[in-house]
Amino acid sequence: MKPLRIRIVGGSLAGLFAAILLGRDGHDVKIYERSSSGFAGRGAGLVPQQEVFHMLREIGVEHLASFGVVAEDRIYLDRSGEVARRMHMPQMQISWDVLYASAAERLEAGRYVLGRKVREVHEAQDVSVLHFSDGSTEEADLVIGADGVGSVVRGAINRITASSYAGYVAWRGLIPERLLPPAASLLSGTFSFYVARGNHALGYLVPGSAGEIAKGARRYNWVWYRFIDPADLAAAFTGTSGETYRFSLPRGEVPEERRSLLVADAERFLPPQFAAAIAAERTPSAQGIFDYEAENMVGRTTALIGDAAFVVRPHTAMGVSKAAGDVLSMRDHLRRGNDLAEALRLYQADRIAVGREIAAYGRQLAASSL
Ligand SMILES: Cc1cc2nc3c(=O)[nH]c(=O)nc-3n(C[C@H](O)[C@H](O)[C@H](O)COP(=O)(O)OP(=O)(O)OC[C@H]3O[C@@H](n4cnc5c(N)ncnc54)[C@H](O)[C@@H]3O)c2cc1C
Repeated sequence: MKPLRIRIVGGSLAGLFAAILLGRDGHDVKIYERSSSGFAGRGAGLVPQQEVFHMLREIGVEHLASFGVVAEDRIYLDRSGEVARRMHMPQMQISWDVLYASAAERLEAGRYVLGRKVREVHEAQDVSVLHFSDGSTEEADLVIGADGVGSVVRGAINRITASSYAGYVAWRGLIPERLLPPAASLLSGTFSFYVARGNHALGYLVPGSAGEIAKGARRYNWVWYRFIDPADLAAAFTGTSGETYRFSLPRGEVPEERRSLLVADAERFLPPQFAAAIAAERTPSAQGIFDYEAENMVGRTTALIGDAAFVVRPHTAMGVSKAAGDVLSMRDHLRRGNDLAEALRLYQADRIAVGREIAAYGRQLAASSL
């Protein structure tokens, strides 16, 4: 197949993986990312699966696999903070932002355009047309939607485009290991869980923001899943700046009185170790839990990858590996296919069942732990 002009909407991990692999195969690739600053220093822990290790090798950052923090044991606490169950189950965590920064560095200047928001994409005769928020347009042989949970690229190929709220959010914190209070020391070095109806918490250590894995230089990542009524979500996701976010409330936007309530609730409902870790976070964030399953992952000249195609519950820890698997499959089919139509058809045939299966698995995990 002749080299294609490929434009990717969304420059998080799925978009970066795609740009690196397809650019290396000779395609003319450019990413448009709406954020004007990129995501260095954002994100938290990432539990890598097989496809992530494969992707690290493909993009030439396999050294990151040895910059992970290993939790040897998985522990389940009871409400009083006693260890109800302990299992030897070594599990590595790497950090999302280190992987993001390493991948972004792999792209030539000019191929990763920040601060460029796409409003809509539509398929014309034998091209896809990108409509930017400043009113300009551009044509491409293939547009890849890597634009996540609120994807606008979905609209070029699917009737149903909106992600649906699952009724709960993940409160998240990421604190320097040295700020983890002594009352929470049991959590350090283990993959810890507390599972109770409506209150599911977990936590683990991840590398420091520059990939540090030395004791004392790592960060502690906690997650607390809690129900928020759909009618209250907009108020819950209105930040200190007054902006109402659709899918999450970023760090720095949680009003102090809401943080204090979170800390007080943690003392009421969680084991003391998790309550102490939550109290130590001055700038928590919240991620709404949403579902989306694309009816079609491809059109004639448009394709979806990562969360744009399937939003899966974070309990699976498979969002990034699914995105990596999508990109590897698309790269392979674009290499082998006789033409774009065949390559896209084979890509969808390969990945749609995987996306559905992981999405169903995530709902099942949520039902059993919340
Ligand atoms: C800042 C950030 C931090 C994250 N941290 C973690 C983490 O610590 N651990 C973890 O497991 N997962 C994390 N994730 C989620 C993880 O990246 C995804 O689950 C998975 O990798 C699939 O990602 P994605 O690239 O498909 O979608 P996403 O990561 O959601 O990225 C979508 C991208 O598209 C951009 N975008 C959206 N709409 C438009 C538009 N109209 N025009 C242009 N650009 C647009 C967004 O700004 C974003 O960069 C994070 C995501 C982000 C954005």
